[in-house]
Amino acid sequence: MKKNNEIKTPTKLADLGEFGVIDKITKGFINSNNSSVLGIGDDAAVLDFKDNQALISTDMMVEGVHFDLAYMPLKHLGYKAVVSNLSDIYSMNGTCTQITVSIAVSNRFNLESLEELYLGIRAACKTYKIDLVGGDTTTSTKGLIISITSIGSAKSKDIVKRSGAQINDLIVVSGDLGSAYMGLQVLERENEVFKVNPQNQPDLSDYAYLLKRQLKPEARKDVIDFFADKKITPTSMIDISDGLSSEVLHICKQSNVGCDLYEEKIPLSKEMKSGCEEFKLHSTTIALSGGEDYELLFTINQKDYDKIKGNNDLTVIGHIIDSEKGINLVTKSEDKVPITSQGWKSF
Ligand code: ADP
Ligand code: MG
Repeated sequence: MKKNNEIKTPTKLADLGEFGVIDKITKGFINSNNSSVLGIGDDAAVLDFKDNQALISTDMMVEGVHFDLAYMPLKHLGYKAVVSNLSDIYSMNGTCTQITVSIAVSNRFNLESLEELYLGIRAACKTYKIDLVGGDTTTSTKGLIISITSIGSAKSKDIVKRSGAQINDLIVVSGDLGSAYMGLQVLERENEVFKVNPQNQPDLSDYAYLLKRQLKPEARKDVIDFFADKKITPTSMIDISDGLSSEVLHICKQSNVGCDLYEEKIPLSKEMKSGCEEFKLHSTTIALSGGEDYELLFTINQKDYDKIKGNNDLTVIGHIIDSEKGINLVTKSEDKVPITSQGWKSF
């Protein structure tokens, strides 16, 4: 007879074998996009984008480098790994329809932990209507590595690159910046407290918004839908994964232009501002160099301003100028300081 308090012994991956593991973790995924002609189970997936161009983007996440399982639950990790990839397709003004997921796992992980990871992956697929059409499963000597490829499409005339910003264009950002970074500060602090005193039960309710931004970020598909609805094609666009300064530099350098960004216009949440006070950090510095917000930074022609001005989730933070005038932050005290990249560096 099964006892109520029976603890399920974790299933060793080696006992299931590679194919058994793949079967278990990919169970429950159902394709819903017409462009997914053939999904998991053959040597390659088959996709059909008809008259559209295909958009492909890949990201890799390595345990200990990009995430720490001490404070990142596996389900959240799966969700975030997908979302951060989708964000790259949306930032081309495209629709994302498929992903492939490749994982390398050490024997520290069991089937149940991989199922947790895939629960998060499945939740993101459901939210964004994405089909999981393939991947690879292999072993690692240490830790977990996840690589996701996101696949989407767009009409060639709708694709927005980093390189199209023109002088006098407005620079616009969605949402608010720096909250995800502050969420990470809170988690790292609690992790240190936990190491010293594992009995400590922290009350993190004041930080709910910051933690959500770090642990369960969303990609701005809604902004892409808004563009389609309002018939706006940004002149350039990038997603903010490494911090505003590094992304603005990418746009300006690739478009061969300069910019004036206004410090007082940068959108910050009240939770982010009070977090910065508590941690004694400068909120503008965090907005400029904190990563992982997955907001969209884009430029539009001034004639499109009327179409965006009623949208409270979009903020004009500056404008494009001649490259010779530099890439500047206009501070609250009206000084012009050159923006340098302090975005997160992998190396
Ligand atoms: P192959 O030996 O041809 O590389 P695999 O046995 O690795 O095939 O994979 C079998 C099928 O399962 C393929 O369709 C592959 O894309 C898919 N697959 C393998 N690993 C994963 C994974 N981690 N997530 C999703 N699909 C996977
Ligand atoms: Mg394979």
